[in-house]
Amino acid sequence: MTSLKIKKRIQELKEGFLRDAAEVRDSKAADALRIRYLGRSGLLADLFSLLGSLPTAEKKDAGRELNELKKQFQESVDALQARFRSAADAACSFDYTLPGDPMWIGHKHPLQIVMSEIQACFKNMGFSVAQGPEMETEYYNFEALNIPRGHPARDMQDTFFIDEEKEIVLRTHTSPVQVHVMENQQPPVRIIAPGRCYRNDTPDATHSPVFHQVEGLCVDEGVAFSDLKGVILAFARSMFGSDMKIRFRPSFFPFTEPSAEYDFSCLICRGKGCRVCGGSGWVEISGAGMVNPEVFKYVNYDAERYTGYAFGMGVERIAMLLYEVPDIRMFFENDIRFLKQF
Ligand SMILES: [Zn+2]
Repeated sequence: MTSLKIKKRIQELKEGFLRDAAEVRDSKAADALRIRYLGRSGLLADLFSLLGSLPTAEKKDAGRELNELKKQFQESVDALQARFRSAADAACSFDYTLPGDPMWIGHKHPLQIVMSEIQACFKNMGFSVAQGPEMETEYYNFEALNIPRGHPARDMQDTFFIDEEKEIVLRTHTSPVQVHVMENQQPPVRIIAPGRCYRNDTPDATHSPVFHQVEGLCVDEGVAFSDLKGVILAFARSMFGSDMKIRFRPSFFPFTEPSAEYDFSCLICRGKGCRVCGGSGWVEISGAGMVNPEVFKYVNYDAERYTGYAFGMGVERIAMLLYEVPDIRMFFENDIRFLKQF
């Protein structure tokens, strides 16, 4: 072997390595490259074994050159392996077989749940749903409901007035919807009016400046107080169960005569007495009564021919009783920890 020949072999080996290294696409191929060139019986070892046949003077130079080459190959293979290893690690850190993060699915607000159930009950009994504006004139909110200016009943409700003249109000109840319906439709009328109402109350555990009501109205020939009791009882039983009892207590509202407040047997203890009902077994729901004939005058109904009943209920009140929510403000704070429970 001459030094010229070995120089040629070294050059060929260099070029071959560069060619092969350019083809490496993964760490397995990088391993194969290392074995082929740097392995115990690899191409570099072949050349080292030829050193012995060189003249002593040339052996040293060729040896240094081969050692230099060995170092270069080693560095190149290390770099390739490091590159593919970090790519493989990155791929491993994303495990496609793991279940994904669950998506949060929104659902109805507790007040909407209760409101929908109330509406469904009354729809089953032949009531249709009527809507009206939340901003009303004082005529619809008070006067046409037999609450004229100066009437003490106006003081019963703390009203949000929109204008200086106190003619535009945020409705204090959904009763104005009844007036709109009766103005546009002769009896028979059988509607419920669900919606938002506003009162200038200081917020506390049982008062909120915005709240929801469902108001009911039925007008026809021969409608009696017993029909009202029957409808309220049917509602109580279809909404809360067949063991529900109801009771009426005399009361006063300007737009009904006679008027009553009605109670349900406690939704939690079913009449036995508990913390929610204060041990009485009854919970107060809302007011009701026979439509005052004075109200019929405002909408040109023949009070001699028609009679009717009206009733209301607070949606928050029912939701608080049903879900044992201790503070009405929780419905409006939109705390997701609270809302998630329904
Ligand atoms: Zn109770």
